[in-house]
Amino acid sequence: MKHIVEPDLMAVNKLLQDLTAADRIRWAVETFGKDAVLLSSMQSSASVLMHYFYSMELENEILFVDTGYHFRETLLLRDEFMRRYKLNMVTLYPELTPEQQEKNFERKLYLFADGQKECCRLRKTVPFLNHMKQYGRKLAMVGLRRSEGGRRAKLNPLLQDPRTHGYTLHPIFDWTDKQIQTYLQEYDVPVHPLHKQNYPSIGCECCTTSVEPGEDPRAGRWRHLVSAGDEGPKYCNINCSDGSGI
Ligand code: SF4
Repeated sequence: MKHIVEPDLMAVNKLLQDLTAADRIRWAVETFGKDAVLLSSMQSSASVLMHYFYSMELENEILFVDTGYHFRETLLLRDEFMRRYKLNMVTLYPELTPEQQEKNFERKLYLFADGQKECCRLRKTVPFLNHMKQYGRKLAMVGLRRSEGGRRAKLNPLLQDPRTHGYTLHPIFDWTDKQIQTYLQEYDVPVHPLHKQNYPSIGCECCTTSVEPGEDPRAGRWRHLVSAGDEGPKYCNINCSDGSGI
């Protein structure tokens, strides 16, 4: 494995900027070998990347964090990808079941503004980071894109992730919604069925609703925590790209 030293980050980003998504993924695998993985949310951008792993015949891990609170459709889509494409899918679990967590904290954390962050940390971020550290994985690819706006509007292809002492790669950081749809149709890739039911952004079932026409695509995330004067959380922070890393 080549080691990318910090000062190279700018040069690598310049290189990656002009590559295709496939070449960005290839760069990651050639540079980090099996320690380059994909973190899948099972949303449409992840469907594109999972299909790339299939078409490029990659055996690298595809990580999926089963929070215990997912829509049934999300789990079925994971199974469909495994069945159809024989991917090296690794499902990660939090230490506690939802029931154990609710008992420990004597409440459903996700129902409270001061509990949601801890719930996302325990059920998403910790299982992901534990796996990365335990197996020495160094680079996680994710489907975040600039066209999603918000904190993602200025994404670079490659970002350092201080939590893993490694990197996050955004192979389709410059793709539009239209490009995503075109790719999925062209290759007949399975897509999360809730996207067609006005769920542009999908997380855990208890923290996700559909959106009304004209609403922000992420308006359905943690809607129950929006209150007067507080717009509520927008990201779960499993992706360091959504935090202070940008
Ligand atoms: S999205 Fe909601 S249920 Fe899922 S981990 Fe975060 S707070 Fe918990």
